[in-house]
Amino acid sequence: MSKASSFVKWSENLTVKRRTFIKGLAFVGASAYAIAPLPRRDGFIFKNRLPQGITVDHSRDYSRRYDKWRIPNTVWGMVIDLAKCDGCNDLTSKGNPPRCTAACQEGHHAPSDYKQNSKSYFDNEHQTQVQLNQRVHEYIKVFKVQDNPWSNSYFFPRPCQQCIDPPCVHVCPVQAAWQRTGDRLTLVDQERCIGCRLCMAGCPYEVRFFHWEDNYKFYDSNGKPLGPDSRIVKDFEMQMPFEIVKQKGVIAKCDFCGNQFLGKLPHCVASCHKGALYFGNLLENSVTNNMGETILVDKTIQERKGFRWKEEEGTRPRVFYLPANTK
Ligand code: SF4
Ligand code: SF4
Ligand code: SF4
Repeated sequence: MSKASSFVKWSENLTVKRRTFIKGLAFVGASAYAIAPLPRRDGFIFKNRLPQGITVDHSRDYSRRYDKWRIPNTVWGMVIDLAKCDGCNDLTSKGNPPRCTAACQEGHHAPSDYKQNSKSYFDNEHQTQVQLNQRVHEYIKVFKVQDNPWSNSYFFPRPCQQCIDPPCVHVCPVQAAWQRTGDRLTLVDQERCIGCRLCMAGCPYEVRFFHWEDNYKFYDSNGKPLGPDSRIVKDFEMQMPFEIVKQKGVIAKCDFCGNQFLGKLPHCVASCHKGALYFGNLLENSVTNNMGETILVDKTIQERKGFRWKEEEGTRPRVFYLPANTK
């Protein structure tokens, strides 16, 4: 992606590509279904795909809970300036995560592999013991990269690339990996996810990971675990329009945050001490960092020779990189 002309025709592009996407979904989804095991934890599977012996619980609401948060006329996107990112060396050299990773984990209540032990604390507001299990859950990961032995190294932050043609969605047999209409965010519906991990294999950017255990565990005063319908769990979920409380056996990844719906930047963007991350509505052709700097996307990409990662995959990411200074 280097031409402004192709950028400003974004919405037109979306319409054309949607047909291809639906065709692909039908084809790949059908093939994936043929090879993937389909049992669900609660025995539910889509009505028109019911294998023999599986029943539907009609008392449950299987609608997309987070669909209502979408905003029309928005295509969220991110610009990452590799020339600005210093990998938060001051923190990582002491064994701490970069600011963007830490802020994202904090905002999503995700366990951090940087902490050595599980944490247990008493939540006074809810009068509940909270157990935080430590696992590797980096929605944004920062890599140190050296292109060749003669160039300088640089740092490469990797969130979900929020592809317009997302292979993860194409291969998911139960539509748990899905792209929301409206703002077109690629999200994970953990109500539907069966943990088959086809989306992990399908994502060329390796941004998805598997939850081997619940990220939060809530207990009542008798030490009994609380279910997903308990008030504390629901309260946690209401902090953001996406699932914070992740269940064991489902997939998670960067969701571009729900904060933009409250007029805020995503946690990673808001926390970067270099202002290397920019976020905004690509249909408005502008993105902003946490230092109040707003840039025109097409002009900046042209001038700085910006690029999208693995363009050859045809996924059309909504994350644009501005090159590092490697000389
Ligand atoms: S993007 Fe910002 S916060 Fe993240 S590693 Fe780079 S400098 Fe640190
Ligand atoms: S980067 Fe991977 S997980 Fe994200 S939308 Fe693209 S294929 Fe899906
Ligand atoms: S956009 Fe949100 S979910 Fe994605 S890496 Fe940044 S803070 Fe995490």
